[in-house]
Amino acid sequence: MRIDLHAHSNVSDGTQAPADVIVSAAEAGLDVIALTDHDSTGGWAEASLAARDHGIALVPGMEVSCRTEEGISVHLLSYLHDPAHPGLLEEITKAKDARYTRAERMVALLAEDYPLTWDDVIHHVAPGATLGRPHIADALVAAGVVEDRSEAFSSILTSRSRYYVQHYAPDPALAVELVRAAGGVPVFAHPVASARGRIVGEKTYREMIDAGLAGLEIYHRDNPEEGREFLRRLARRHGLLVTGSSDYHGAGKQNLLGENLTSAQVLARIEELATGTAVVR
Ligand code: AMP
Ligand code: FE
Ligand code: FE
Ligand code: ZN
Repeated sequence: MRIDLHAHSNVSDGTQAPADVIVSAAEAGLDVIALTDHDSTGGWAEASLAARDHGIALVPGMEVSCRTEEGISVHLLSYLHDPAHPGLLEEITKAKDARYTRAERMVALLAEDYPLTWDDVIHHVAPGATLGRPHIADALVAAGVVEDRSEAFSSILTSRSRYYVQHYAPDPALAVELVRAAGGVPVFAHPVASARGRIVGEKTYREMIDAGLAGLEIYHRDNPEEGREFLRRLARRHGLLVTGSSDYHGAGKQNLLGENLTSAQVLARIEELATGTAVVR
């Protein structure tokens, strides 16, 4: 069984429509794919139809943007939650709305130094999609300022850049609690991805575990080897599930479908824990 539990469509910052992500997943020889767009379940319906057509199982999911009180960014994967559950829905809606104001501020700052307008950015965003820095990156690529998204993220758009603006995002322990309340299974995405920015310490892990964290995404290209041993120990000590996934973004990132995989036993455990919705088969 080839199971990849982390992929994005153009409902957030992937470059393919949800149905096309499913086609690519089937072509990559996967048996199971999770669609985990940032702060949105908007791709679930289209992906479900495509999954049935292409004989691949779909795990409906989402990646919740969070921030600790120290200002550290945390991504929380949610699997099989009820998309209509009010608590979680309110938080992601608030974050999704705040992302627009935040992008407007970033574009205003960038426009002082680069040929960039709000329309240039919106041009790269599918209707209703979760807006993020990757869309600003796409506009900078189109303007000839950078070669690709990666170059934008290593320079102009890093979290340390003077053009960087934060947006509202829930505390990770609150997000874990809300995912659980919605019947979902919360898994900490790429927890030690230090190249993206600061990573959390013991206190945040403790709070998330106390709130009901179910697993750690250990096998992800952004987790350096040093951090993985720490995560394996943490998983053993607290009985957390261990997942591996690609974090595919279509042409938006180099990550390839199936480059990391999750075991069938772990997926079975995720299905046992979930009460919000079911795997589409
Ligand atoms: P935001 O949530 O708007 O702050 O933007 C962060 C998003 O940018 C993450 O979801 C990543 O998928 C994406 N990202 C981060 N680094 C890169 C990179 N080097 N190339 C492409 N996308 C990236
Ligand atoms: Fe992303
Ligand atoms: Fe992420
Ligand atoms: Zn992701």
